[in-house]
Amino acid sequence: MPSIFTKIINGEIPCYKIAEDERFFAFLDINPLAKGHTLVVPKQETDYLFDLEDNLLAAMNVFAKKVALAQKKVIPCKRVGVAVLGLEVPHAHIHLIPMNSEADVNFRNPKLQLEAQEFEKIAQAIRSQLEL
Ligand code: 5GP
Repeated sequence: MPSIFTKIINGEIPCYKIAEDERFFAFLDINPLAKGHTLVVPKQETDYLFDLEDNLLAAMNVFAKKVALAQKKVIPCKRVGVAVLGLEVPHAHIHLIPMNSEADVNFRNPKLQLEAQEFEKIAQAIRSQLEL
């Protein structure tokens, strides 16, 4: 059964898209811990990140790096934090979270409530800095 992320990749569920190539897709997390919180996913349906074949996993990190560099240019933050949980959605993904302290990447924090317009503004700004 296709995961919710496959439906997003296929355009069956809307998202605020950041980037896409033949193998990977990045979009804003709908329940962000911080403005610009982005998910990077492989198009290949695999539940667990470390079940990905080595070359695909390595390439996914390079793709995530490009997204993180664009996030850093747009979102004021000290670092872009990287997290892997996968407790909610069984489709491998990397969280990229702009942060100023470790407290910003606590998944128990209340999530930001953003208007559609703001999500789109953030996505557009990150996209404008992307060098894929
Ligand atoms: P995890 O599986 O890493 O524990 O969490 C999955 C993440 O995916 C959560 O941060 C959640 O907000 C995000 N998420 C779940 N469903 C959707 C969705 O339909 N759209 C988007 N953009 N994000 C989602």
